[in-house]
Amino acid sequence: ISISDPIEEHRICVCVRKRPLNKQELQKKECDVVTVPSKCVLMVHEPKQKVDLTKYLETQTFRFDFSFDETASNEMVYRFTARPLVETIFEGGKATCFAYGQTGSGKTHTMGGDFCGRGQNASRGIYAFASQDVFLLLNQPRYRNQNLEVYVTFFEIYNGKVFDLLNKKAKLRVLEDGKQQVQVVGLQEKPVSCAEDVIRMISMGSACRTSGQTFANASSSRSHACFQIILRRRGQMIGKFSLVDLAGNERGADTSNADRQTRMEGAEINKSLLALKECIRALGQNKSHTPFRESKLTQVLRDSFIGANSRTCMIAMISPGMSSCEYTLNTLRYADRVKEL
Ligand code: ADP
Ligand code: MG
Repeated sequence: ISISDPIEEHRICVCVRKRPLNKQELQKKECDVVTVPSKCVLMVHEPKQKVDLTKYLETQTFRFDFSFDETASNEMVYRFTARPLVETIFEGGKATCFAYGQTGSGKTHTMGGDFCGRGQNASRGIYAFASQDVFLLLNQPRYRNQNLEVYVTFFEIYNGKVFDLLNKKAKLRVLEDGKQQVQVVGLQEKPVSCAEDVIRMISMGSACRTSGQTFANASSSRSHACFQIILRRRGQMIGKFSLVDLAGNERGADTSNADRQTRMEGAEINKSLLALKECIRALGQNKSHTPFRESKLTQVLRDSFIGANSRTCMIAMISPGMSSCEYTLNTLRYADRVKEL
């Protein structure tokens, strides 16, 4: 690996990950329109046609803190995105990591890993790698005797409503008190004492997320899933790491050709992704106003967007196929805006 270590002082890190062409795309002989010429650069070669019908490729270049090509493993992506944020939660801070992108671009694969393989074949994602490192740090001399306890939560935000993935999708209320503290009432915080405990929770919550949905109408693509690792000492919260698998960003555009329910969902997703962008930008620019009330997602993550010791990382996922070109460009433009000053 020739990538140097990420720069620690950045509050916001924006990366992009290109997945390989999948079986169906290869079968359809889809062209790969994305190249990653160096560790920070990514190019999209969009097929275009002139008025005289001659075809050409229009290349657009994007720069990010890191760009991962199709050969990068989940572990590699983890090391340069979420890994540098793990320490933050031991130092009294809040960390967030978001997977953003079109449905099918690899958000869940990157964050949750693949649990359908089960057992030996199950591949780990950022949730699991981050949990492993939390326990690794916890057992180091400098933290070992600090009486730290680890808890996890796992919930889903669907159409502005919160559901507990570690408690049979129980519907939860979100309350904001006079001190502007946001609370998800009744959200189960499960105590965990080793990485294997956490992996059981991830697999349980992931199964709960995808239960009862058909492939064609997968509600998981229309919901945000949030997995949190919480550090406490005698009940008091020390730090929190929120890892969010966002709803497919194409759903936000799903507004014209659809029934009322789908349109409303689309509008809600659109609103939350726009609010998220503004909240991250506010964090990066140390702005005093953070528009977290604009959506349930940003409201629930409120305490992670404020405070001197909050850090965030966004991983923009992209599909490499020519037919995804338009969505890919949308994703890259959004990611670009997040870090732009
Ligand atoms: P999303 O959550 O963004 O809708 P998924 O994570 O479910 O997308 O990915 C769609 C499919 O592509 C899954 O079958 C997943 O295993 C596969 N996939 C995604 N990213 C990769 C990757 N980097 N390498 C191999 N397979 C991948
Ligand atoms: Mg998914």
